[in-house]
Amino acid sequence: MINQTLLQFFHWYYNDEEKLWKKAAKEAAHLKEIGITGVWLPPAYKSTEGDNSTGYDCYDLYDLGEFDQKGTVPTKYGTKDDYVNAIKVLQENEVAVLADVVFNHKAGGDELEEVHVKRVNPDNRLEYTSDEFTIKAWTKFTFPGRNGKYSTFIWDKSCFSGIDWAEDLQETAVFSIQNEYGEGFEEVPSQEMGNYDYLMFNDIEFRNEAVREELKRWGEWYFETCGMAGFRMDAVKHIDPAFLNEWIDHMRGHFDKDFFVIGENWELNDIENLRRYVDQTEGRMQLFDSMLHHNFYQAALQGSDYDLSKILENTLIESHPHLAITFVDNHDSQPLQSLEAYVDFWFRPLAYALILFREQGIPCLFYSDLYGAKYVDTTADGNPVDVELVYLDKLELMSTIRRDLAYGIQTDYLDHPNCIGWTRTGDEEHQDSGLAVVMSNGEAGNKNMEVGKGHAGKVFVDVVGGHESEITIDEEGRAEFYCNPGSVSVWIRKKD
Ligand code: CA
Repeated sequence: MINQTLLQFFHWYYNDEEKLWKKAAKEAAHLKEIGITGVWLPPAYKSTEGDNSTGYDCYDLYDLGEFDQKGTVPTKYGTKDDYVNAIKVLQENEVAVLADVVFNHKAGGDELEEVHVKRVNPDNRLEYTSDEFTIKAWTKFTFPGRNGKYSTFIWDKSCFSGIDWAEDLQETAVFSIQNEYGEGFEEVPSQEMGNYDYLMFNDIEFRNEAVREELKRWGEWYFETCGMAGFRMDAVKHIDPAFLNEWIDHMRGHFDKDFFVIGENWELNDIENLRRYVDQTEGRMQLFDSMLHHNFYQAALQGSDYDLSKILENTLIESHPHLAITFVDNHDSQPLQSLEAYVDFWFRPLAYALILFREQGIPCLFYSDLYGAKYVDTTADGNPVDVELVYLDKLELMSTIRRDLAYGIQTDYLDHPNCIGWTRTGDEEHQDSGLAVVMSNGEAGNKNMEVGKGHAGKVFVDVVGGHESEITIDEEGRAEFYCNPGSVSVWIRKKD
């Protein structure tokens, strides 16, 4: 068995001439070579911005770049055939594909309907600010370009619990749609703003059984069409977990297949919210450890004022290591995005060492750290900004070291505010495995650590931090390991 390592194979502004699905197929063999065992691909379906859309403003789940809708046949990332082929080629190379599933909302309805609504206080969704009245809203989805292929299901106002645009009034607000399925919004995990069921666009009404059944039928079609290994579930804190449990159980049961599922439950303040979600989903899904990302962000900001010995505290890897997907950044936290909190460059190798070389959690690398990214966008006050995210030249090497050497017993030396380390003894299954990591957010560091008696007399060298020494392990399996200022060193057995 080898360690699992995931890669988020896109960033928000992906705009290279080469379409993403083609690039993914082309990169498959290389990704396998550097130890990537799974990739998360972005939402593949036709969305309101057509071929300019990231896919999170989804319109038609059955249009994977096949029908002339929203002004284009292909999506931003390519055609349906390119997508299906990318998944096939990746998985032939033993790189599992996780498809992005956006269930919280739909956007870009085809027809207006008369909809009974109440206005809601945007800061407290439990408070109505009007009596019931009628608006005209884009709540009917007939998908004329697809014309009933794969599914004849028509979405209408009974399929949504909220909307943010009244066409007749030309008004933006949070409107609660009044229907037969219960008063107000659905119970969801997040109680921010009273109730955070409503996020954006047309919010899907999961209390409507016809909706739940349609999404299960769609799941069957999606897997039968594409054959992916699992799913990344978008925006789960805005969705009733009972529905997601039902959907996951349906998929796993129907296909008798243990789909790998990750939930995106973005949480930066209270680890209890993530732990509660684990209870609500009864461990059915892995979760992104956004709390650990937040610690990385703080550590990078604060420099030597940050207490490195606490970097793993209040995280999901601490409390639920077998469910944690660890990451440094993603398409929402990258510069100029909605949850911007980009971990500063100096700290990125340290953060990657913390997710790649420890026993706990499955790491998910970010696209731009492997390939770089260049883009332009405007800040909140309307100023255009050029962004360049430079790739980390040691990341491919670090990923292969994880695959080849990060095994065996882990011993922690997380005992100093500015310098921490840990070791892995290695195991018999992986030749010459075992390693020692030392990192500092201040001055040059050193740690006396035990890497295991199996390494007695062997010479270790640093392959990441550029420390020049050669270190010989003593009879007790210990040695003094070093790192440079503001840096991480990863010590492995020197090749004979
Ligand atoms: Ca919702």
